[in-house]
Amino acid sequence: MSERLLKCPLCKSGDILNHVVVTDHAVSKKGFTLCRCGDCELLFTNPRPKEEEIGPYYDFKEYYSHEDQVRSFTQWLYQKIRKSSIQRKVGLINGLVKSGSLLDYGCGTAEFLQEAKRQRWTVRGIEPSEKARAQAIGKLPAEILGNLAEVPEQEVYDVVTLFHVLEHVHSLRKTVKKITSHLKSDGYLVIAVPNPESADAKHYGKDWAGYDVPRHLYHFSEKSMTIFQSEFGMELVRTEPLVYDSYYVSLLSEGYKKPNSGMISRYLNAFLVGYRSNKKAAKPGNYSSNIFIFKKK
Ligand SMILES: [Zn+2]
Repeated sequence: MSERLLKCPLCKSGDILNHVVVTDHAVSKKGFTLCRCGDCELLFTNPRPKEEEIGPYYDFKEYYSHEDQVRSFTQWLYQKIRKSSIQRKVGLINGLVKSGSLLDYGCGTAEFLQEAKRQRWTVRGIEPSEKARAQAIGKLPAEILGNLAEVPEQEVYDVVTLFHVLEHVHSLRKTVKKITSHLKSDGYLVIAVPNPESADAKHYGKDWAGYDVPRHLYHFSEKSMTIFQSEFGMELVRTEPLVYDSYYVSLLSEGYKKPNSGMISRYLNAFLVGYRSNKKAAKPGNYSSNIFIFKKK
């Protein structure tokens, strides 16, 4: 059974309306309704699969077996982007604090943590997915946990990171409150999320791959992130773009919009939309995906 939210999961406002129906192109092919909060502008899947029943929506097996040569190249591109983004992420936290303590929530297979540790950070990773966690433990046996509750109460960090994770978390307010309780009094919270107001999101509309329903439960506008900081006692220090994301998201979106298009036209269109999206963004915060750097108040 799915669950229906009666209040906004970010600001608890009851002023919520159906906004658009989006198809899960990647796995189930089902349609999901996104609601919009009249107060904080958050878009959220509603109704949504419960936490204990969302697992199958992460099972991409079918998707892989039906894809053509576009898939292998897209995967290759994804790996390339991931590698360069690891260095970028470590560079970012090095710019905030010199080799302090780091908690990465939703650490996946822990490549980022491994590199941070190599650059003298004390690291801790949390990964709820059993499969990814097993791989993470293989790299960092002592540092990886399955959930927030396992982190010792008194453990506090200089930096907590959530890279493309917040949009997947069912208990949004509870999780953020717990996370910030593990932040030092002058600690940093770094959050990367897709931007539903970006030019590529507007171009693809309901076919925008950044929606990725029902795996993405929320989409944060600039205003949502302003409400986020006041709700959780944070102060926005600055935003930074993730410039490669517009290309990758556009490439997936091209396939959703025109499933029968050839590889060359798909790549060409994706490149153009991705390039234009970055160009139009013009200022930090308007890109396809953004990194928000908050400081605890
Ligand atoms: Zn709201």
